[in-house]
Amino acid sequence: MTQRLAAQPFAKQITTRATEIATRAIADAGGVAPEIAVVIATSEPDSLLYVDRLLKQVSATGLTGRRVELGAAATEAEIFAALTALSADQSVAGIILQSPLPSGVSREVVATAISPAKDIDGITAMNAEQLAEGTHDASLLPATAAAVMELLRAYEIPLRGQQAVVVGRSAIVGRPVAQLLEIAGAHVEVAHSKTPDLGVVTRTAAVLVVAAGVRGLVRGEHVSPGTFVIDVGIHPSGDTIVGDVDAPSVEAKLGDTGGLSPVPGGVGPMTSAILALHAAEAARRLVRARA
Ligand code: NAD
Repeated sequence: MTQRLAAQPFAKQITTRATEIATRAIADAGGVAPEIAVVIATSEPDSLLYVDRLLKQVSATGLTGRRVELGAAATEAEIFAALTALSADQSVAGIILQSPLPSGVSREVVATAISPAKDIDGITAMNAEQLAEGTHDASLLPATAAAVMELLRAYEIPLRGQQAVVVGRSAIVGRPVAQLLEIAGAHVEVAHSKTPDLGVVTRTAAVLVVAAGVRGLVRGEHVSPGTFVIDVGIHPSGDTIVGDVDAPSVEAKLGDTGGLSPVPGGVGPMTSAILALHAAEAARRLVRARA
């Protein structure tokens, strides 16, 4: 049977570590919990559900979550102003800008209002540049990319000298994952929507990360036996979710020596745990800076 690369029990261990760090930071701050702000400019139900889970995870560490609701019609100027105020606010340790943004709002433009030290989901240009140079702070990486790497680390999947393929090159997932795999010593190839024959590239992978945002894109014929596949995709399907990987046909092809991260239960919960850890580390940073 194909190995199941599930987030648990590793995600739980990470949230326990986050709680320990947050508890110490709160004690050092005289019992006042630093805040983690989530800026929301959408009314998409899936996105709002994600924010609810995220804020629950943040409060489970002891930190205070702050919901900043701007509405789905918020302008670039309004979002920019809210992020500027939160960046200057001494009670706010970390800032998350929830996706999607209203049409016409540039993520790159509004991200310039986020203080890089509070950028716990790694969206500012400064944190992206540091990742490109390999000089990044791990607590300021894009959380989903960090979650992919954490799953690979947890299951001790070799990366050094291995052929890794990333499907997707978005600024928040595909690109940072490719950079992190390269830093880990893998030979990395990136496939995207203009790649002429996806299977020709993906079948070469010892490690395959799929973040295309296309339900069931990667099927059995796209993989080789023994590959470790991480499925980042999230697509609502009835009362559950499915990924970018067609799990039944891929598992049949991977066989006993390969592995696949489940959806649900893989990258999603690992991303929440990583965000909780980033939040706790930001709280520690804020309290130390104030001391
Ligand atoms: P995106 O739409 O910004 O980027 C998708 C990328 O995939 C693009 O680079 C595009 O070129 C590539 N692509 C699209 N169609 C393709 C095809 N047919 N063949 C090859 N490449 C193709 O998406 P994103 O924000 O990077 O998200 C990707 C997926 O990951 C989505 O399903 C999203 O919901 C999910 N996601 C999950 C988490 C999590 O925590 N698990 C977090 C963020 C995003």
